[in-house]
Amino acid sequence: MQTTYKKSGLIEKYRQYLPVSASTPVITLGEGNTPLLQSFNIPKMLGCPTLDLFFKLEGLNPTGSFKDRGMTLAISKAVEEGAKAVICASTGNTSASAAAFATKAGLKCYVLLPHGYVALGKLAQAIHYGAQIIPIKGNFDRALELVRELAEHTPVTVVNSINPYRLEGQKTAAFEVVEHLSRQPDYLCIPVGNAGNICAYWRGFKLYRELGITAAAPRMHGFEAEGSAAIVRGEPIKNPETIGTAIRIGNPASWQEAVRAQQESKGKIDSVTDDEILAAYKMLGSAEGIFCEPSSAASLAGLIKHLSDGTIPQNALVTCVLTGNGLKDPDTAQKVTAVDLTPVEADLASLKKVMAL
Ligand SMILES: *Cc1c(COP(=O)(O)O)cnc(C)c1O
Repeated sequence: MQTTYKKSGLIEKYRQYLPVSASTPVITLGEGNTPLLQSFNIPKMLGCPTLDLFFKLEGLNPTGSFKDRGMTLAISKAVEEGAKAVICASTGNTSASAAAFATKAGLKCYVLLPHGYVALGKLAQAIHYGAQIIPIKGNFDRALELVRELAEHTPVTVVNSINPYRLEGQKTAAFEVVEHLSRQPDYLCIPVGNAGNICAYWRGFKLYRELGITAAAPRMHGFEAEGSAAIVRGEPIKNPETIGTAIRIGNPASWQEAVRAQQESKGKIDSVTDDEILAAYKMLGSAEGIFCEPSSAASLAGLIKHLSDGTIPQNALVTCVLTGNGLKDPDTAQKVTAVDLTPVEADLASLKKVMAL
């Protein structure tokens, strides 16, 4: 029987805006088309009932983060260009995404790591998708150097942030925001680590403005964690520290382009403290039913900061990007909310008492 299967994934949907041709093999896991959720409770809680707030739930991508948007394109191009394997230096969402898409493509995936830095929990996804994990006797920078050197001498494609296709795939998130709102937001709030994603959104919004699909483009407000705020401070940070492991970056790869995005959009790159990140993270769970990674909550933490200092007006249309899924880091969730698990007597009267009924 013949079926008419509507292909999924963002390359099929946005191929006219992406560097692919009819002969590019499309490697997809159904990424993209993530929900844009309107927030009603948080604006009220913040005392800004006129705020028009939306969350872009990127944690609902196939491997649980926006990295899948870039990886579908990076892996498809790697296959097109004849790569036999892909490699990245990463302990987090990049390795999870690379491993999944490589497996789908039938490519081998190597993940290089600094020895002693190997927390298996965070690598569980990459391992599960069949990647080969290689700890090296060196630090993270050395791992990245080796990755680059290897790619020069072997048919192995690097899928770290230096891969040029990743940001191209990631820009599709901006297209989706415009489609869901039927216009551009006034402000886009986004966590900043290597600063690739803020650039990708800006590329997308700028393109839609140039094409006349939107009348204007949003102001880009990016937020680094205070303990790793290299761009805000104007210098690389040797030992970056923050609860947000996905934005714990001391020397962002897309630093210059991010500053341009901020300037061209008349936005701002600022920092938020770990306490502010955790407060926003808790608020998303308890007030909106959204479980994101701590790093992701930097966007809401930043919005709260910029509402209170007047940088963002109280009646603005704002989209906060929630970059990754909270299920990736259950430890932090358990730590931020204390629970009393003392058992109660197994009778109705005791139950009613603890339930305050
Ligand atoms: C990669 C990542 C970030 C940081 O994005 P950059 O493009 O490096 O700025 C933020 N949050 C999550 C969940 C990530 O995986």
